[in-house]
Amino acid sequence: MLSADLHFHSSASDGHFKPEEVVERAFNNGARLLALTDHDTLAGIPAAQKRASELAVDFVPGIELSCVWNKTGIHIVGLGFDMEDRGFRAVVDHQTALREERAMKIGQRIDRLGISDSFEKVKLLAGASQIGRPHFARLLVEAGKVKDMSQAFKRYLGAGKTGDIKALWPPVSDAIRWIHAAGGFAVLAHPNKYRMTRTRLNRLLADFRDYEGDGIEVISGRQEPEVTRFLSKSCQKLGLYASCGSDFHGPETRWLDVGKNLPLPEDSLPIWEAWQ
Ligand code: AMP
Ligand code: MN
Ligand code: MN
Ligand code: MN
Repeated sequence: MLSADLHFHSSASDGHFKPEEVVERAFNNGARLLALTDHDTLAGIPAAQKRASELAVDFVPGIELSCVWNKTGIHIVGLGFDMEDRGFRAVVDHQTALREERAMKIGQRIDRLGISDSFEKVKLLAGASQIGRPHFARLLVEAGKVKDMSQAFKRYLGAGKTGDIKALWPPVSDAIRWIHAAGGFAVLAHPNKYRMTRTRLNRLLADFRDYEGDGIEVISGRQEPEVTRFLSKSCQKLGLYASCGSDFHGPETRWLDVGKNLPLPEDSLPIWEAWQ
């Protein structure tokens, strides 16, 4: 099967490498179909697309949209949409504005932990990148409030903690509609990473299919074979396409790289068959 990576990040959001650098790294690792999927922004796509075309590697535009479903933060990956679609660009601009608004609110909450002007500090840290919780995590580490990023999420930023503000995000059904309206395909990102019971996850998967979502990430980074089997079976049961992505952010995750070790089960229907 084709070696593809359809979910990874660049410095346009919370990734370490520039768009062209991460594309080149994925290519050097053997991947031959790529999608850059930064959080709620398309800013990295032109540079990524240019590098991909120089390397003659297949590339489709991508994005990871922040959404909610039944009060749980959910990520929907859009693939292969029309970059020129005005409606979609407006949606993405709105998501970007929501992110800024959310960052201000998170900043106010982090200020209460005894760090002054958190929002301004995080803005400096992020530079041209879209602000995300990982930037707040870095601030908490630098201010000595926690020992590392993982502790920052565990105590202050992760699901249900003070810095987890998700009320602003649109419902999953809207994201799917927007992606379709721009000619793209909607994929449920990392289904196993929402810390849900299997019963609740099954409900999310069924709803996603009812909203006319196209596929789910059967492979997301490194995962247990049991998880792959469960997701692959769910795909077949619900008539969904299978996608695969590393969700690579940077070299700090030494056990995981971009563009390799993402094989879909032989019997799955890969998402790229939807547009090929
Ligand atoms: P945001 O996009 O601002 O909602 O922040 C979510 C991002 O934080 C994810 O895409 C990951 O990159 C990162 N993240 C989530 N959980 C953790 C964690 N436990 N440790 C480090 N980074 C995390
Ligand atoms: Mn991220
Ligand atoms: Mn995600
Ligand atoms: Mn991601």
